[in-house]
Amino acid sequence: MTRDLKAAKLTSVGACTNGCEGNLVTITMYVRGEAVLMTSCSTCDRRTWSKSGERVELRSLLDDIKAAQPLRKAS
Ligand SMILES: [Zn+2]
Repeated sequence: MTRDLKAAKLTSVGACTNGCEGNLVTITMYVRGEAVLMTSCSTCDRRTWSKSGERVELRSLLDDIKAAQPLRKAS
């Protein structure tokens, strides 16, 4: 179950800055109580992530998510 990540909010934030003029949407998630924003272009699929107003790499984000959701071994 990933209930903690379910509280996502979708916000349109204008046009893509990648030159494709697609619509950008921002999805807000909460990882360990911190707001994490994923900005995604619906056309070129370019994605950027930020946390606490700072750009973060997806890999470090995944580490946070893993830490927030300890793997549960199937019993
Ligand atoms: Zn784009």
